[in-house]
Amino acid sequence: MIPQTFNYYCPGSLDEAVKLCIELGDEAKYMSGGHSLIPMMKLRFATPEHIIDISRIKGLSYIKEEDGMLKIGGLTTEYELEISDLVKAKYPILLDAAKLIADPSVRNKATIGGNLAHGDAANDHPAVMLALRATVVAYGENGSREVSIDDFFHGFYMTALEHGEILTEIKFKKVEGRTGSAYSKIERKVGDYAASGVAVNLVLDSSGTCTEAGIGLTNVNPTPMRAERSENVLRGKVITEDLIKEAAKYASEDCNPSADLRGSEEYKRSITGTLTARTIRKALERAN
Ligand code: FAD
Repeated sequence: MIPQTFNYYCPGSLDEAVKLCIELGDEAKYMSGGHSLIPMMKLRFATPEHIIDISRIKGLSYIKEEDGMLKIGGLTTEYELEISDLVKAKYPILLDAAKLIADPSVRNKATIGGNLAHGDAANDHPAVMLALRATVVAYGENGSREVSIDDFFHGFYMTALEHGEILTEIKFKKVEGRTGSAYSKIERKVGDYAASGVAVNLVLDSSGTCTEAGIGLTNVNPTPMRAERSENVLRGKVITEDLIKEAAKYASEDCNPSADLRGSEEYKRSITGTLTARTIRKALERAN
């Protein structure tokens, strides 16, 4: 199908984009990479009258360490994450996730801001950012505000972003000391959305005790979710194989997958447990 007719705007600055979006009202939508929005428009699941293309706004594409944080600009593409030396050296979880998203042609255009702002539990970055305890920076008519990732996903395709707000940055504590992170997913075929995905971030102290544990799950709940009971099992302890198995069991019990073309509920619970154990081991290996 082809999308319904729409008006196209291409503002050159954040303020111009926000002003336009507020003026045009509820029928206006931002577009960055267009790789979630346009497929939805082609299926007529989304029928915006006005598309505001923000992809040419300067200064929103970066990956940098600053003020003790790793900061990623909202318009940073999956491809830019894949080729970043900083990501390769210190933030392998971002590389794990970016490499598993769709195919190179999608990754060249799709942005991390769009991936989060779309509010789709099937997207891979939400679970990663939950594991990393990230903060979203949103820019709107009243300037910038920050939203904890735990408060960001409100429902099916619904986020904390208000009409007119642009996700300008996502940030989280920069890696220091013994930290290990990883993302794994099971997909029906290369480039597909996850049947289940698990993101793990672990911080260990000098004795090997886990001081921080973050675990996020992809596509096994109506919204991206944190596996809190699994995190609690690991925090404050030296992680053993028995603890890994217990954390995996809780993730499998606590998720809420629905049966679809990617598998039955039972199958998804089972692979979520397996992936949780596998990803904790990988994150631990990296931390060590
Ligand atoms: P757009 O499509 O431009 O926008 C998506 C939504 O977010 C829209 O509602 C838009 O208004 C809003 N939006 C966009 N940017 C902003 C912003 N900065 N601030 C506020 N609102 C904004 N993703 C995965 O995670 N895993 C996959 O395996 C995967 N497979 C895919 C396979 C195919 C064939 C395709 C086409 C896409 C796939 N995707 C997958 C989705 C892809 O990564 C999306 O492009 C991405 O999730 C959205 O980013 P975008 O920049 O394209 O956003």
